Amino acid sequence: MVTSIKWLGHANFMIKSAHEKVIYIDPFIVDNPLCPITVDDITQANIVLVTHDHFDHVGNAVEIVKKTGAIMVAQPETAGRMTSELGLPAEKVVNFGMGMNIGATAVLDGIAVTMTQAFHSSGTASCAGFIIKLEDGYTIYHAGDTGIFSTMKILGELYPIDLALLPIGNAFTMDPIQATRALTLLNPKKAIPMHYRTFPVLEQSADRFVALANNEAPGVEIIVPEPGQTIAL
Ligand SMILES: [Zn+2]
Repeated sequence: MVTSIKWLGHANFMIKSAHEKVIYIDPFIVDNPLCPITVDDITQANIVLVTHDHFDHVGNAVEIVKKTGAIMVAQPETAGRMTSELGLPAEKVVNFGMGMNIGATAVLDGIAVTMTQAFHSSGTASCAGFIIKLEDGYTIYHAGDTGIFSTMKILGELYPIDLALLPIGNAFTMDPIQATRALTLLNPKKAIPMHYRTFPVLEQSADRFVALANNEAPGVEIIVPEPGQTIAL
């Protein structure tokens, strides 16, 4: 098997590792105008990551955990709200039901998940990003919803990044200018833009980001998938 990724619109991605483990990040499916799948289409998930407690990121995470038995990775207060209000089984939350926080790494099914800082708001706890090191070492960074921060340079040094998933949509996150500068700090091999097109208030295409990135970070391969398209990594 080859590692692959699908963008499901907004910050929602499905990663399938070479060892056939399935990871969902911010699985906003119902009411996501770009998402081409339904919750019923999901038959396997091993890990579900939630960056923060906003409706367009918590999305259908709890339903996916319930139907697949996946482990939920979120901050303690966010996991706690999902447990008390949304019926998330506490034993499915990482770290024996306690959740995790920024700076920590949990190894799940041979996949190392590190929670990183992100600068944004959240209904509970704070916003986070994730660095996901798959079984074979392939490393993916999902920035969460955030503005740019200089610690991205340290993250790129500590965890050499094969693929960066970066918000470019403006309004609530980095715009194409900040996301392009983030590429120069993170120094990934490849990048996929996210958190755009979903709502009218957001940047409506990746064109401006692609043009800036090609100019200012020419060593990074920018991939712009359509929602639902499988990208082999
Ligand atoms: Zn968002």
